[in-house]
Amino acid sequence: MAPSPIEVGLSRPWHTLRLPHALEARFHAEEVPPRGLYMQSWLLIFIVFNIISLKIDLDLFGREAMAVPAGLTVGVFIPLALVWIVALHGHPSARRQAIAAAVTSLADMAIVLNSSRIAPHEHADTYLILAAIVPLVVGMIAPLSFRDSLWFCGIAFLAYVGFIVASGLGAEGHTGVPLLVAALILVPIKLTYSREWDRKKSFLLGLREKEQAEELARACARLTILSETDPLTGVANRRLFTERLDERWEVAAVRQEWFGVLLVDIDHFKRLNDTAGHAEGDGCLVSVADALKRDLARWGGLVCRYGGEEFAAFVPLTTPETIRDVGESLRLAVADLAIGHPGLPQGGVVTVSVGVTAAHGANRHAGLRALHLLRTADEALYAAKSAGRNRVEARNALTAANLAVMTDHAA
Ligand code: GH3
Ligand code: MG
Ligand code: MG
Repeated sequence: MAPSPIEVGLSRPWHTLRLPHALEARFHAEEVPPRGLYMQSWLLIFIVFNIISLKIDLDLFGREAMAVPAGLTVGVFIPLALVWIVALHGHPSARRQAIAAAVTSLADMAIVLNSSRIAPHEHADTYLILAAIVPLVVGMIAPLSFRDSLWFCGIAFLAYVGFIVASGLGAEGHTGVPLLVAALILVPIKLTYSREWDRKKSFLLGLREKEQAEELARACARLTILSETDPLTGVANRRLFTERLDERWEVAAVRQEWFGVLLVDIDHFKRLNDTAGHAEGDGCLVSVADALKRDLARWGGLVCRYGGEEFAAFVPLTTPETIRDVGESLRLAVADLAIGHPGLPQGGVVTVSVGVTAAHGANRHAGLRALHLLRTADEALYAAKSAGRNRVEARNALTAANLAVMTDHAA
């Protein structure tokens, strides 16, 4: 089996950060950049640093000569940073945050590089180091993607080296310090690479966890269906029915309502199997179950395959009078299927016998249980069989046997 895109993404070769196409698109769609406040607060800190750095300008340039570096800091850098603080209000895009970081730090770097050019010769290195620290720090703290850091660090590096070469600061055996600090500018590239992969990895692991949870939920749902359904006919199985019967009988007791129970048994089913074959018998069970389920839905009841060719059902809110109608309706629904029965005299069709009973919920408090209702329906079914089949018989749930149990319960 081919590995899933998530597994492909997780086992990527070291040299690529790109995920399989759809996952890459989803990663970018779902990734939420930090709020503008994050970069705004950093820009504020940079403004403070630049104000403090005016003291270095004062120390190294002297009061008269510091006009140019101080003027550039106060007149160019600080207004630029303030403009970006305003532009990063709210929830700016990742691209806008990257541009803010790049523009302000490149401007800052240019100002400091310029100071290295015009500072007294012995202090040039101090400004060279400071100039490289600016893009280094910004590249590390700004929320840059790997790709953004590539162009940002690339531009800063080239500008820095270009400036050194153009201004002759690296000449005459003086190349060591400028080269080393220029290399520092490239450090954030490695950092953002690792950071981006960490984000993608946790995205993929999160997706994998979600998919596994969904698969588990689907498997549980399938298992629930399997454990509650009769595999041949697709109607409820006896387990689910018994559970629901108890629940609904209790509801009838609480609400003081009538409640009906039915048992339906196919007539001469063994003969159908013997004459038409087991497969036909199975098909007949499926058709009868469908018909019963459809018809019972009209009455608001639940049917189950109780065993073999026998079905049980309950119908809430059903009095002894109406439960008979329900039974008759089920009997007709099956007869209307007109399933030919080769084991019966010419033209015979599959029929069912139905035993019904109904009881008032008040009797549950007196000790009448759901199983007593089923037993009474079974007695009624037996009566229907004895009376010739293809008919509905009703019995009162308050039989002598049930009353005896209820008396015991009351005692
Ligand atoms: P009655 O009218 O008295 O109910 O007679 P009957 O033949 O319907 O009842 P009996 O209990 O004698 O036979 C039931 C038959 O149902 C026996 C059994 O082989 C068959 N049966 C039970 N489960 C299945 C099933 O899943 N598929 C098929 N094809 N037959 C089944
Ligand atoms: Mg039968
Ligand atoms: Mg039977």
